[in-house]
Parts: sequence; C-alpha cells; structure tokens
Amino acid sequence: MIVVMKPGSSQRQVDHVIELIEQLGLRSHVIVGTERTVIAALGEKRDGAKQALETGDGVEKVVPILAPYKMASTEVKKEPTCVSALNLKVGAGHIGVIAGPCSVESRDQIVQVAQAVKEAGATGLRGGAFKPRTSPYSFQGMKEKGLELLAAARAATGLAIVSEVMAPEHVPLLTRYVDVLQVGARNMQNYPLLEAVGESGKPVLLKRGPAATMDEFLLAAEYILKTGNTQVMMCERGIRTFEEHTRFTLPLATVPYLKQTTHLPVVVDPSHGTGKASLVAPMAVAAIAAGTDGLIVEVHPDPEKALSDGYQSLTPAAFLAMMADCRKVAQALGRRM
Ligand code: PEP
Ligand code: MN
Repeated sequence: MIVVMKPGSSQRQVDHVIELIEQLGLRSHVIVGTERTVIAALGEKRDGAKQALETGDGVEKVVPILAPYKMASTEVKKEPTCVSALNLKVGAGHIGVIAGPCSVESRDQIVQVAQAVKEAGATGLRGGAFKPRTSPYSFQGMKEKGLELLAAARAATGLAIVSEVMAPEHVPLLTRYVDVLQVGARNMQNYPLLEAVGESGKPVLLKRGPAATMDEFLLAAEYILKTGNTQVMMCERGIRTFEEHTRFTLPLATVPYLKQTTHLPVVVDPSHGTGKASLVAPMAVAAIAAGTDGLIVEVHPDPEKALSDGYQSLTPAAFLAMMADCRKVAQALGRRM
C-alpha cells in the first residue's frame, strides 16, 4: 500500500505513520516528493491495515500498490531515478554510455580502449574480470589482476568502472575496485547475489535473464531495492528465441515498457543483444529512438584478437561513428547526449 500524506504534512505526522506501519508488521519506505511525501508499506497483505493507516494524522489517502514489484514501480515513485557514478549519469534526462571490451586482457588493451571510448563520449568503462563463460574451457577472466587494470584505466581517464560480479563472496573484492557492479544475465535470479550487491551500496547494472519475463526482471530489481539501495539500472541484453540470425533477440519494446512501469533507468546492450558487430550501431541508434537512458557497448582495439566476444565488438572507429549517429537521433528527439 502507499500512504499519501497531505501536502505540508509534518515530520511528526510522517514518523507517526511509519510507527503505525511497523506496528502492523510491515516495512516502511519513505519517498519525499516535491509536493508531498508518500510512504510505501511493504509486506504481506493484512486485514484492516488500510483502515488503520487511513486514520493516521496527516494522511490523505491509502492506495493499494497493484504491481508485484513495489519499490521499483512508478506507482510508488513517479520521478525517474538517476543512477550516477563519477561522471556516468543514467536516467532522469541523462543518457549515459558505458563502453569497453568484453574482458580485460592486458594493461595496454584496457587503457587504450578507455582513452578511445572516452574521446568518443562514453563516461563509463566496461570490462569483465570475472567472466561467466558458457564453456568451462574458455577464458575465465583475469580476476583480481583484471580489477587492478580497470582501476589503472580509471586513474588514466576518470571513467566510471563497470564490471561483473558472479558470486556473493566476491562482492567485497569487486567493491574495492569498481564503481558499478554488473549482475550478468545468467545471475539475474541469483537472489543471494542480488541481496549482496544491494547491501554493498554500489550502483548496480542488472541484466535481464535471457528467459526472464518483465515481471521476473522487475522483481529481481526489487531484491536490490529492498536492501535500501536505489541505484539500479535495468539492462535489456536480448532474450532467447527460435531466431538464429542473431545471437539473442533484442526486444526494444522493453524500453518504453519499462519507462512506463518503473522509475529505474533503462540501459540497452546491443552487443550481446545481436552478437554481430555489424548490427550493433543500428540497434544502439534504435534504442536511443525508443527512449533508452543508456547503452552498454563492447569495444575492442583489435576485435579479431579478442579473448571473448570479438565478433560482436566494435573497433574504436566504429564506436565513434555509432556515437555520432546516436547523438543525431537524440537531438532530433530533443534529448541531450
Ligand atoms: C557481458 O557483459 O560481457 C556479459 C557476459 O553479458 P550477459 O550477462 O548479458 O551475457
Ligand atoms: Mn561479452
């Protein structure tokens, strides 16, 4: 339920409602808006709770939250959320671009690509150090050494570092080196991991599972929000379908759908979404047209030699051209990029 306070209600009245919510065995979550304060009462539905809260001093009305994801829903918070880390800003009018290789491979590789993507206008640097690979025989990432190299690339460029964390026990290590924790598609429903990244307090890039519905995706975000961490980006990276001309199928209707249902920013990954370098830029441009708040794109200085996902990685020159096209579309729609 959402308890909508009257405009100008006092802190004492808000505190009293919080107390009532807690007495009912529910959790409270206060959202201070520009005009009025609303308090979400979260937990199992209880008989009589609505009536009890309606009698609270300063309460205007109590309305049920219809969506199963409560804190992620626009029913609870209408203003869009901006996720930020260093100069990376995603959401609430900001379009943020995260770019870099699939995996960190060497100091030269990561620093070189960081400089190139920064020049092209990216404000976040991606690079996997712990890689979830389909085959256990494939390159698994440089692990902590890779994180050190990412930190070196940040020192050289000021870009915010985005890197994947695969296990709850790795969260403290990643937190020491990176600015945004990425939860990969394969881990979207790893609930202990979602709680651990939430509790880290770091911004999170949550990728959609290739077989997850929108409700499952939003409920995964809810696990993170429930810890009190509101810095969550929803990343569409493509789903598994019967289609074989692309690695995954990139459903861009996700973008306007999420913009209508959640205040959290939406990021599109056209690299994993298509699996083909030649399709990445057109889909990035289309994602901007669809209203995405951000992009995450794989860029490698020499894609042919990449240790992972080279076939879907852009060269720095192709990334520069992609950014120019994205900017044109953003401008045509009155958006800044
Ligand atoms: C990645 O970003 O390199 C990655 C493995 O992505 P996903 O989890 O979407 O497959
Ligand atoms: Mn990849």
